[in-house]
Amino acid sequence: MARYVFITGGVVSSLGKGLASAALGALLQARGFSVRLRKLDPYLNVDPGTMSPFEHGEVFVTDDGAETDLDLGHYERFTGVPARKTDSVSSGRIYTNVLEKERRGDYLGKTIQVIPHVTNEIKDFIEIGDDEVDFMLCEIGGTVGDIEGLPFFEAIRQFAQEKPRGQCIFMHLTLLPYLAASGELKTKPTQHSVKELRSIGLQPDVLVCRSEQPIPEKERAKIALFCNVRPEAVIPAYDLSSIYEAPLAYHRVGLDQAVLDAFQISPAPKPDLSIWEDVYDRIHHVDGEVNIAIVGKYTQLEDAYKSIKEALTHGGMANRVKVNVNWVDAEVFDKEDAAPYLEGYHAILVPGGFGERGTEGKIKAAQFARERKVPYLGICLGMQMAVIEAARNAAGIKDAGSEEFDHEAGKKRFTPVVYHLKEWVQGNYTVKRSASDDKGGTMRLGAYDATLAEGSKVAQVYGTTAIEERHRHRYEVDIKYRDKLEKCGLSFSGMSPDGRLPEIVEWSDHPWFIGVQFHPELKSKPFAPHPLFADFVRAAVESSRLV
Ligand code: GLN
Repeated sequence: MARYVFITGGVVSSLGKGLASAALGALLQARGFSVRLRKLDPYLNVDPGTMSPFEHGEVFVTDDGAETDLDLGHYERFTGVPARKTDSVSSGRIYTNVLEKERRGDYLGKTIQVIPHVTNEIKDFIEIGDDEVDFMLCEIGGTVGDIEGLPFFEAIRQFAQEKPRGQCIFMHLTLLPYLAASGELKTKPTQHSVKELRSIGLQPDVLVCRSEQPIPEKERAKIALFCNVRPEAVIPAYDLSSIYEAPLAYHRVGLDQAVLDAFQISPAPKPDLSIWEDVYDRIHHVDGEVNIAIVGKYTQLEDAYKSIKEALTHGGMANRVKVNVNWVDAEVFDKEDAAPYLEGYHAILVPGGFGERGTEGKIKAAQFARERKVPYLGICLGMQMAVIEAARNAAGIKDAGSEEFDHEAGKKRFTPVVYHLKEWVQGNYTVKRSASDDKGGTMRLGAYDATLAEGSKVAQVYGTTAIEERHRHRYEVDIKYRDKLEKCGLSFSGMSPDGRLPEIVEWSDHPWFIGVQFHPELKSKPFAPHPLFADFVRAAVESSRLV
């Protein structure tokens, strides 16, 4: 049976609960324990798949095809443990399950209530895979006091009560605001937040206090006293120059020790932090920098491309360079020359996206990169744009486009070089979709195998010809155009194992131009940078030397 750490937040949102959870996971691993991290989100959306990236940031996709919260990305990047469908749940999903059971008559006509039916559903979820790991870390989204979070708080209270003593602990994150005028750190909001928690039956064992200023011993003792937490379990969390310093920083201030103490695990196994020391070294000892443009649509909210930004940072670490990410809004040059907006960057990345807005700009970015021999990485929509660019400007299919945009416009305007995929093979069965299916969950999602052509650039980059990468898309490059495009030099160097779905394209006469139908960024880690990102940044370094 696993031990459970429930992680909650108070005072304000965006305190870095996800990061603290992920760092704690990494520290427990460093001490030889196995971990799994979970996110319980109180919002009513069934999953984040249909939530706007402008509002919610990126959708993180798991191997088993779940569209989840971006915190699962943090978890994977810090622990290397591939997240699963069962690691993320929302109120919407919980209520859907309860209501489906009610419709099926599973509750035998009983009155369905938040307690016990909803809380039971949450508890069942928390426990999935309980026997597989030493520690299960469950983060509750939102902040204590949110109305919609209450069933989750109640569920974890019951859960801890029902387990043997010492099996579950609670870790709470708060903020100590600093009042410059009086030069003081204020502990009152933390006291109130813990009071709120205690009023619903939850006593934190560990308090993590975010603060911009050092927390004096006196204040730490005061927090401990008023919040009923041991002084050594009041953990300061200061701002860091890189999130990847978090495991070392949290270790220094005793987070993992406090957690092990709360479980009374003694003596605590010694940690091996060499992975994180190497990561730290790679961040702080760099030799030069490169400027990479991300030409996208959701450029106002960096979280919309969270994993891409992180994967580029990892690519920088692999090459010991600092990667400066520059956000370029593709829509701006939809109707003008892209060159003034793109000149000077050492590489261009066109990320995934949905809808027609900004796509003409992205096509121009692909053309610019191809013609000027600038390294280009196209991800999902970014690959589709590169293929459309090739079809229009190299293969002479002047009206090449994607069915996605025709669907949106309600009329046919393009030759569909990229078409709506309605049937494909997953493992040993065929998945079928109709054009009118619901928006949620109708995509080719999750891990699929691809076969890389011997001698291709990508085979060289990956160092193998058999890969598995995560997908999230409805549309697909039409194999019908393969011969025509390959004659122009755009090689289809990665295909689905049945040879029907183009997975990777590359320009053979270009120093580094690769488009991938999948999302390699989702599998990159600071201690294991994804080969495509590592090599893309290497190509950017080379191109920086030419400027
Ligand atoms: N909109 C495109 C599709 O559905 C690309 C999706 C993506 O970039 N993730 O195929």
